[in-house]
Amino acid sequence: MTKSAKYLAEVKRWAANNYKPLDVVLERGRGAWVWDVDGRKYLDCLSAYSAVNQGHCNPKIAAAAKKQIGRLTLTARAFHNDQMGPFLHQVCKLAGFPKALPMNTGAEGVETAMKCARKWGYTVKRIPDGRAEIIGFEGNFHGRTISVVSWSSEPQYYTHFGPLTPGFKLVPFGDADAVERAITPNTCAVIVEPIQGEGGVIVPPKGFLKRIREICTKHNVLMIADEVQTGLARTGKMFCHEWEGIKPDAMILGKALAGGMYPVSMFLATEEVMGAFKPGDHGSTFGGNPLGAAIGRAALDVLVKERLAARAHRLGTWFMGELKKIDSPHIKDVRGMGLLIGVEMKKESGTARPYCEALAERGILCKETHDQVVRFAPPLTVDKKDLQWALKHIREVLSMDMSRVAVK
Ligand code: PMP
Repeated sequence: MTKSAKYLAEVKRWAANNYKPLDVVLERGRGAWVWDVDGRKYLDCLSAYSAVNQGHCNPKIAAAAKKQIGRLTLTARAFHNDQMGPFLHQVCKLAGFPKALPMNTGAEGVETAMKCARKWGYTVKRIPDGRAEIIGFEGNFHGRTISVVSWSSEPQYYTHFGPLTPGFKLVPFGDADAVERAITPNTCAVIVEPIQGEGGVIVPPKGFLKRIREICTKHNVLMIADEVQTGLARTGKMFCHEWEGIKPDAMILGKALAGGMYPVSMFLATEEVMGAFKPGDHGSTFGGNPLGAAIGRAALDVLVKERLAARAHRLGTWFMGELKKIDSPHIKDVRGMGLLIGVEMKKESGTARPYCEALAERGILCKETHDQVVRFAPPLTVDKKDLQWALKHIREVLSMDMSRVAVK
C-alpha cells in the first residue's frame, strides 16, 4: 500500500463527503512545486484557487509568520494590536481606498459587503426598511454561506439549503443593459466579479465594467467588485478592474492577501459607504488579528516588490498564446487574463475531469471548473521553463480523446 493510499482511505472514512478532490496527497510545497507523500513532484497549476499567488511557503511570508507567532497572535477587536493598523494602511494605499474592514474568508468578506451595502442603502440612500435589493450575475461564485448561495444561479449550491435570503436579482454576466433594466429605486448595490473564476473563467466583453460603473453612478447604486480571486496581481494588474480604468465604490479581497498562509479577507470602501457601519454592527473574533495582519503585510510586500502583476501579465500572455496554438479537435475555447486561464473542452470530448486526472499523472495539478473547463492558474512566481515543460504534456493530454474514459 502506498502512503497516499493510506491517507486517502483515512479521508474516505472520516471526512464529510462535500468535496471531490483528485487522488493526490500533498505534504510539501516550494514556489510553484508541491510534493506528495510518496515523493512525487507536481507543478501546481491551481494555486489553491489563486490563494498562493506568491508561491508555496514563500520564505519572506513564512519568516513574518514565524516571527509573529512568537510575539502575539490574537487579541480580538476588544483591544488594539500593533499589526492591524499598518496592514490596513498598506492595503488601503495599494488599493486606493480610505477604509478597510478585515475578516477571514472570502465568503465573510462578501457577507460584509452585502451588510454594508444594505445599511448604506437604508441610512444614506433612504431605501424603505426591508426592501433593499442587490444585483448579481448568473454564473457567479461568491462563497458558500446561506445568504451568498441565496443569489447563486447554480442549483446544487442552493437546493435544499432554504429558506434562502431574499433581496437579490440576477442578470446575465456581460450584459450591462440588463443591469440598468434591473435597477429600481430600492437597488443598493451591484456586486460583480471582474472575471468569473469558478464560473469557468468567463471574461466579460471589453467595456462591461466601465458601463456598470457609469450605470451605478447614474442611479446612485454602489458598484462592488469581488476581487477575491482576480485581485492581487493574478490577472496582470494588481486589481482586475484596473484593466478598464475604473474604480468601484467598494471591493472584496481574500485568498492571496495572506499568500495562502492564513485566511485573511478584506472589505474596502469609500468613507461614505464604510461610514454605514457603527460599533457593534459587524465583526469577527479573528478578523484583523495580529498574526494574519503580519502575514498579510509580508504577502503584499512580496506582490509589490517582486512585481508579480507585471510577471503575471508577461508570462500569462505568452502561456495563453501557447495554449491557443494547441491544435486539438477537443478544445472549444482558450480564454483568460494574466495567469488566470481556462481551456474549455468540447462536450463530445468528455468532461474536463479526465483531462485533469491525466495531467496529474504527468505531474501537473489542475482542477476542473464547471464540468468542461480546465483552469490554469499557477503561482505567479512560476518560472517560464517550468511552464514550458508543462506545455509539452498539456499539448499531449489536451489532444487525447477522453469521451470514453471513466471518471474516477
Ligand atoms: N469570491 C470569489 C470571487 C471566489 O472565487 C471565492 C472562492 N473561490 C470566494 C468569494 C469565497 O472565498 P472563500 O472560499 O475563502 O470563502
